[in-house]
Amino acid sequence: MTWSVWHVSPVITSIFFILGVFTLYQVVFDWLKTVVHEKKMSISDNTVKSLFGVIYMLVFIFTMQSTIVGKSISWEFMNFIVIALIFCAYFLNIRVPIYFFVPIILVYMVFNHSIGYWESWCHALTIMLSYWSFNYIQKHPTKSHPFIGYIIVGIIWGGIMWYFVALKFSLTMSVFLQEWGYLVIFEVLLYSYVRMLLHESELKGHLEAFANHDALTKSENYAAYSSEIKYLFANSLRNNLGLSMMMFDIDHFKHVNDTYGHLAGDKVLQKAVSTTQTVIDDNDPKVKLYRTGGEEFNVVFPGYDLPATEPIVSQIFNALNHLTVRNKDQEISFTVSMGVSGISSTDKTPDDFYNRVDDNLYHSKKNGRMQITAI
Ligand code: GH3
Ligand code: MG
Ligand code: MG
Repeated sequence: MTWSVWHVSPVITSIFFILGVFTLYQVVFDWLKTVVHEKKMSISDNTVKSLFGVIYMLVFIFTMQSTIVGKSISWEFMNFIVIALIFCAYFLNIRVPIYFFVPIILVYMVFNHSIGYWESWCHALTIMLSYWSFNYIQKHPTKSHPFIGYIIVGIIWGGIMWYFVALKFSLTMSVFLQEWGYLVIFEVLLYSYVRMLLHESELKGHLEAFANHDALTKSENYAAYSSEIKYLFANSLRNNLGLSMMMFDIDHFKHVNDTYGHLAGDKVLQKAVSTTQTVIDDNDPKVKLYRTGGEEFNVVFPGYDLPATEPIVSQIFNALNHLTVRNKDQEISFTVSMGVSGISSTDKTPDDFYNRVDDNLYHSKKNGRMQITAI
């Protein structure tokens, strides 16, 4: 194929261009998200999405527009710009406050040499109102058919926007209708394509969560524990930070299963996790609970030395030992044993640290159970 036979209509090129822009966005966003997770940065996925989304789309809009600014065809990329804004407003659901929106639009109008035209002011106002409408219908979607609300907003605001552009540039009726029509086609394509992209990204998120969580209790599992402890252990040594760990095991749990059945045993595990998590949430959300074995759990205290864990460990111990779990018409109660320790300069690996906590738990078991050993 040579350039001379490369006869592709601009609409087709535009469609693939637009799809490429969004695919690139998604690929880079997924990569950024992974980097943030790997480096354990305390930035939420939502903040990454919003910040990156705004920067990406602004760079896209200003770069595109800079190639035609001041020319009589400076309306030609209008549909791309509108599609980029719909992507931010509806699909990324980025909420832009007015004190942020107004300066961006002013800068854009100066840059686009359009600040002196009343039609451009009407157009800018339309853009702002359509942005808010897309935000609004994202927040209040039509229950059964969200697409209907989306496309109605898209058609109405698209028409008003192109009306002001047509007035300013004295476009003919047929150009006005054609551009408005293209915009509606882009909006439909954007909806289907982004839905597919986001669906795949959500699926990856679910798989990641599934791999790190225990299906029965919903707490994080051994895989999550071992990856987290490696990072915390290294971080603690590097920055001379405290790190402590508590491990607990339900006493005579086999007896619970044998007496009340495995499903009742499952309920006990779920209740033990939710109770422990409530105590943690009331104290410090940085403290993390993991189900590391069948009825063994580890609680990791980043930044804590051994004495600092004492109040939280005692609260968990008391809460669990006073717990009753309702099973049919019976009340099941149980006890737990605990081992606690802080990181030591003799620990060479996270397993050395873990083994000491485990030894302390074993000591509690050997000495009659329902007790805490902390050394
Ligand atoms: P100890 O006081 O020495 O800890 O005695 P124990 O009976 O708690 O300890 P043991 O290790 O002998 O038994 C643990 C039991 O936990 C055996 C296993 O069937 C049960 N278990 C492990 N995972 C689950 C689970 O997901 N659900 C239920 N219901 N039971 C489980
Ligand atoms: Mg046990
Ligand atoms: Mg056990």
